[in-house]
Amino acid sequence: MSIDILVQAGTKGTEAILKHTKETLDKFITEKGKDTTVSFPHTNYYLPLSLALLQKEVKTANDCLEVLSEAERLVFNKPTSQGFFIEALDGILNKGIATLLYEEVLASVNTKLGLHPTKGCIGFLPDNILRSLGIQLVDGRIAGIAVILGPAQDADKAVQLVRDFQSKSIVSILVGSTKGFSFKKQLEEKKVEIGLDNYIVPLGEDYLSAIYAVNFAVRAPLIYGGYKPGQWQGITEYIKNRVPAFVVLLSYLDEVIVATGLGVLAFGFPIITDLEVPQLGKIQTTLHEALVTEKDYTKIVEKCIQIRGIKVKINKIDIPVAYAPAFEGERVRKEQLYVEFGGKASVAFEFLTVKNMDEIIDGSCQIIGEDIDQLPFEKKSMPLAICVEVGGRKMIKDFEPILERQIHRFINYAQGLMHIGQRDMIWIRISKEAFNKGFRLKHIGKILHAMLHQEFSAIVDKVQVKIYTRQEDVQRLLPATKKVFDERDERISGMTDESVETFYSCTLCQSFAPNHVCIITPERLGLCGAYSWLDAKASYEINPTGPNQPLEKGKLLDQRLGQWEKINQFIYERSNKTIERVSMYSLMDCPQSSCGCFECIVAIVPEVNGVMVVHRDYSGMTPVGMTFTSLAGSVGGGVQTPGFLGVGKLYLTSKKFILAEDGLKRVVWMPKELKQLLADKLKRRCEELKIPDLLEKIADEDVATTAEELIAYLQQVQHPVFSLPPLV
Ligand code: SF4
Ligand code: ZN
Repeated sequence: MSIDILVQAGTKGTEAILKHTKETLDKFITEKGKDTTVSFPHTNYYLPLSLALLQKEVKTANDCLEVLSEAERLVFNKPTSQGFFIEALDGILNKGIATLLYEEVLASVNTKLGLHPTKGCIGFLPDNILRSLGIQLVDGRIAGIAVILGPAQDADKAVQLVRDFQSKSIVSILVGSTKGFSFKKQLEEKKVEIGLDNYIVPLGEDYLSAIYAVNFAVRAPLIYGGYKPGQWQGITEYIKNRVPAFVVLLSYLDEVIVATGLGVLAFGFPIITDLEVPQLGKIQTTLHEALVTEKDYTKIVEKCIQIRGIKVKINKIDIPVAYAPAFEGERVRKEQLYVEFGGKASVAFEFLTVKNMDEIIDGSCQIIGEDIDQLPFEKKSMPLAICVEVGGRKMIKDFEPILERQIHRFINYAQGLMHIGQRDMIWIRISKEAFNKGFRLKHIGKILHAMLHQEFSAIVDKVQVKIYTRQEDVQRLLPATKKVFDERDERISGMTDESVETFYSCTLCQSFAPNHVCIITPERLGLCGAYSWLDAKASYEINPTGPNQPLEKGKLLDQRLGQWEKINQFIYERSNKTIERVSMYSLMDCPQSSCGCFECIVAIVPEVNGVMVVHRDYSGMTPVGMTFTSLAGSVGGGVQTPGFLGVGKLYLTSKKFILAEDGLKRVVWMPKELKQLLADKLKRRCEELKIPDLLEKIADEDVATTAEELIAYLQQVQHPVFSLPPLV
């Protein structure tokens, strides 16, 4: 078979989908009228593909007609009116792009008509999922994204493939079904847990749903890359280089799928298939081979990794169950439970402490008490204390909480284990399956030993683990441990920006947002919420040339705004000379830029001279008339936007929180859930501010979701914002 066959099939496919889309849209317009709105849920990017490539904000059926006529130009090998055109392969990829544009329109109509998402699937992926994935992609927890089209040859092969992807930290996105078979159903048949937490995301049972993977990818350059709609060269280049996705095409192929495939190649996503098709080597738009056949399912994953150029961090640990970040979100339910510790079931805690090197035998794991195979038949729980002792030439006490916090992640990575909470509030479950495969408590020791060495080799030289399972031991050890927890909290909360000479930078997100830099201070953590000053310090010790660098503050330029000479210089350099000054404590005057993975947005509410805060999980309306999603659209891409700020949740509880604008007193609204999450810390702040009832005076969605309701409420409770100087 030659490439001509692909071209012919693709051409036919494009024509077929064109005809189908036109008919569907005509019918839709006849029945509903051409001003009927079409949209996808929870996005600020309309029909993202049309927006990114054609610069069209599609809001109605009529707008869809315009997209169709633009796409038609591409079908006839002519540039669109904004000049979009891909030269590679004599322009054949443009037919593919046209196909994707048609499919996006079709999908939006289907969504409007309630035909999408198909049963049990997600359909369109909202912006906030993209934002939460961003940080996992930059820190390597997600290595890549496999868009799997069609069912595997059989259910066992489907499980094997998806487990392979999971163990390589690659997210599987599932699309399509043929003759009643789908990859999703195959996994369900084998009781594989599905969901984003498990790195398995079903988009739809029909092939059309593949468009949701494309319009997901195309938002990354808009959200993170600072690209504007219509800058299609930059957008396609960004996707090719920074979005590590590829297509796995299984079992079934038709002309429309070929046409869709041509569009996918235009974005640089290679296609790996178990079908007999003409092979396509590297083309202009891809990094390596474009279309490759691999019939042996055991080799598919390797091939994908190689062709997409994906870097996988492998955790090599000698335990009887699979081990990878993809298993982090997996639950162990009651029916699957072999034994549990903590939660409501028993007393349990975990504790990591620094010891002298000569007190530690590296790799030793002692079980003091019974192991889980000695559990009496009728019992399902045991007391537990996991005590980890670490030593290292560069180890300092300050790193204890950072290393201890990793226990959660490290234990969760094991398949069949569930870990929730931290310190003396842990809850651990081990499944029957893991137990039957031979998992015992000593393997927890093995995991902690291996992972602490692997990820923290620069500061950790020795690790030993003691695991206690007798009630009297756990009870005896607990009080002293609790005391240490309290001391740690006090020490960290006592640390101020004035008490240190250096701040830390974080440029991890530059792989997505090339101009963005976070400055991390003791009183202001990174906007993703994942890096405190101590985390950044530890990360620097671990990797001195890595994304976290110590920054001497230099001369204080403005105390109120929080500006220092050397910090400004660094920002200017590392933002590629796009940002000259940054205020650590201001929302209005040179605020910090945002990459896109912020936990919360702080936004000005001009009507009341105040600010509101909204977090990523809140999907409702806010008093400024925008949801988190729509607000997020104007914050990000590594630019400064006075009046809007992306922040980590904990920054709200800091004494330095928008100090230049009077801090917490300025806050007039935040979602209830956010209040509850931060309740203790916020209350303490309110007391420090001598307004103990401030938290109740801050409105939430129960009392106000419009500006009018907000004003009424604030007046009624006499919110202190009315006594503050004007914001602008
Ligand atoms: Fe990205 Fe900032 Fe978080 Fe670093 S601290 S990972 S740059 S958001
Ligand atoms: Zn980020």
